[in-house]
Amino acid sequence: MKKDIKSLYYDELAAELKALGEPAFRAGQIYTWLHQRTVSDFSEMTNLSKALREKLDGLYYITAPKPIRKQVSAIDGTIKYLWELRDGNAVETVLMSYKHGNTVCISTQVGCRMGCAFCDSTIGGLVRCLEPSEMLDEVMFTQLDSGKKISNIVLMGIGEPLDNFDNVIKFLNMVNDERGPGIGMRHISLSTCGLTEKFDKLAEYNLQLTLSVSLHAPDDETRNKLMPVNRNRGVEQLYSACERYFKTTGRRISFEYAMIDGVNDTPEHARRLASHIRKIGGHVNLIPLNHVDERSFEPSKPENMRRFIDILQENGVNVTVRRKLGGDVDASCGQLRRKMAVGRN
Ligand code: SAH
Repeated sequence: MKKDIKSLYYDELAAELKALGEPAFRAGQIYTWLHQRTVSDFSEMTNLSKALREKLDGLYYITAPKPIRKQVSAIDGTIKYLWELRDGNAVETVLMSYKHGNTVCISTQVGCRMGCAFCDSTIGGLVRCLEPSEMLDEVMFTQLDSGKKISNIVLMGIGEPLDNFDNVIKFLNMVNDERGPGIGMRHISLSTCGLTEKFDKLAEYNLQLTLSVSLHAPDDETRNKLMPVNRNRGVEQLYSACERYFKTTGRRISFEYAMIDGVNDTPEHARRLASHIRKIGGHVNLIPLNHVDERSFEPSKPENMRRFIDILQENGVNVTVRRKLGGDVDASCGQLRRKMAVGRN
């Protein structure tokens, strides 16, 4: 069985090459081809002998997703890619351009098993986790195809990053590595629906990334209805996990809140949210709910959203509203989904 060479840390690659009898500088050459030059085949590694390229080809494979669809938003230029993976599965990646740089939104799993009631990505459940190489490819191949230098990464595509913990940590370290893309942790956001049991473990790594928590409701009654993940954990457990995370890392948490008409957008919800956030600290990012065909929820009415924002602000909560990007190509939050490599349009 061939091994996934791009999922090896530099030191792991160096150890394997040493065991093959190669001199120490080979690791640097090969790592650069894989992590900075985005080659798809060993034959492209022109500074290696033909014999070595053939030997490596016998032992390892290089992941290289194929773009099976690319959609460009006519409204704001957001690009959505559908990549075909090595095993025929497919995931979506979104590239958004802002004044301050280009942000790529990557998927971390093929499908998702979290079951949030308003989200398209979870329909059909989880198929499998993405490998570190496949997440790196989303960044690197998006950059290569679009010709746009990526400056920021958000783990906000399909899947629950903390449900693929070890691969996500490896990906984060690799994408941060100066011998690879070298993207700073402060330019990376990881979004979670609240797998609280993983928060302390994540905090131990003390990565300086931004942790975003998809809260969407301040109380158990509302949150249980929307997010099955809450049912055996509860908001109190979530709030205390957030407090501990902040204490350990010193990084303020960003809370995502999708505004759903008549479900989580009343003044009472706003007041309860404000009282919790004031206690924990952090910032609230409101997202007007995006349309998902299979779901019956509607976005909040503008006047209710305004009232919600006013209550948060009156209570001293720092709040922003997320700008919708890529709406005409279904590239907005919650609209990404697993697709068959050949299939549904
Ligand atoms: N599983 C992680 C990563 C997904 S990020 C998480 O839950 O955070 C995608 C973000 O979009 C999450 O905040 C998610 O709750 C939100 N979202 C899902 N469906 C949405 C919809 N229809 N409208 C707006 N936001 C949505």
